[in-house]
Amino acid sequence: MAHILDERKGQVSVAGANVATIDCNKASLAGSVSQRACVFCGSRVVLYPIVDALHLIHGPIGCAAYTWDIRGSLSSGPELHRLSYCTDLQEKDVIFGGVKKLYEAITELIELHKPKAAFIYTTCIVGVIGDDVEQVCRTIEDEAKIPIIPVQAPGFQGSKKDGYKVACEAIFRLVGTKSKPETPAKSINILGDFNLAGELWILLDYYKRMGVHVNATITGDGRVDDIANAHNAALNVVQCSGSMNYLAKMMKDTYNIPSMRVSYFGIEDMSDALYDVARFFKDDEMMDKARELVKEEFAKLMPQLTWYKERLTGKKAAIYVGGAFKAISLVKALRLIGVETVIVGSQTGTEEDYDLIKKLCNEGTIILDDSNPVELSHFVKEKKADIFIGGVKERPIAHKIGLGFCDHNHERKEPLAGYEGMINFAKEIYATAMSPVWKFTK
Ligand code: SF4
Repeated sequence: MAHILDERKGQVSVAGANVATIDCNKASLAGSVSQRACVFCGSRVVLYPIVDALHLIHGPIGCAAYTWDIRGSLSSGPELHRLSYCTDLQEKDVIFGGVKKLYEAITELIELHKPKAAFIYTTCIVGVIGDDVEQVCRTIEDEAKIPIIPVQAPGFQGSKKDGYKVACEAIFRLVGTKSKPETPAKSINILGDFNLAGELWILLDYYKRMGVHVNATITGDGRVDDIANAHNAALNVVQCSGSMNYLAKMMKDTYNIPSMRVSYFGIEDMSDALYDVARFFKDDEMMDKARELVKEEFAKLMPQLTWYKERLTGKKAAIYVGGAFKAISLVKALRLIGVETVIVGSQTGTEEDYDLIKKLCNEGTIILDDSNPVELSHFVKEKKADIFIGGVKERPIAHKIGLGFCDHNHERKEPLAGYEGMINFAKEIYATAMSPVWKFTK
């Protein structure tokens, strides 16, 4: 256990051997080099996919560069979200304040792009010097007549998870500000899919085939006017609950909109997501359509999955992702193609999530909360994993050790959600785990 800092021992558990609840939901240990990102980054990744809004970072250029075009987040229309603007605060601004510079930057950009709304992110240094960003936003909102929303996200205030909450608060300022003339009764908002590689469009097709109207997508391929009308939906369907639970709760408290937690990864969870929505609307016809859809998709999918399973059986995987709910779906999806999960970790899991993971995984599986590169490298080698599934910060860990990596986060280019996503996932696991290149690494 020399690779685990004493203060972190409660955040590491073993399925089957350790009945104690994992010590999670807490601040990262100073000096442990957590894989978590800062508050600003957390808020930025959630708000980034609102494609017709202006995103301006009030802070040093480094903060903007860090999160510039951070996600794939495909758009079916405007692409204003892909431009990352920054006030580029310098020493002089830190001493005398950056309010004037901020006012000029926002007004100039509104003139240039005519956005539907603007999100103004504050970063660490603004938290220190105390620029009154709220006041600047109110002034320009009166002048420009569009929502100008401050996103108070100095990085030092906490971790990425706190940034999710800040982003939800910013989105909530938009919700309920406009009503479209007619929102169908059987309509949902999709919360927590970020359309990284077009998965949102797969989901829209499924819901359309079931007769469900999607009112707003928050935030993948998101539009300001749809979010403003989000209070008129009958149900919030929440994926990536780590980032969107808070918004769902605020919408329940204020607009009495119920929510349900789903996952679109893996065929079991995907099917449950569709059935649960049909069950919510108590609509037999909708349920029949969902069953028909699942049957059709299974018929296309199963022969291909069987092919991969025959070749991948016996391989071992390590998973380290942001939200534990996604990790749970991944364990199930890997099992379907014959791959055993030997390590599961997340940055932001809850006690409930980890208890579920423990029950789901084979005895001996290592379970980690808020891990770091030293622990991850050690366990990956100890458990002899063949493939590592994670995000951008885990890729170098896998490649330095010399094992295959599957990106399940910001940088992926293939949709991994839904039934076609399951096939893409199997293909990627197969191509990476079986690649001959690993024979040539030490
Ligand atoms: S920690 Fe602070 S300085 Fe670093 S990226 Fe986040 S907001 Fe910017």
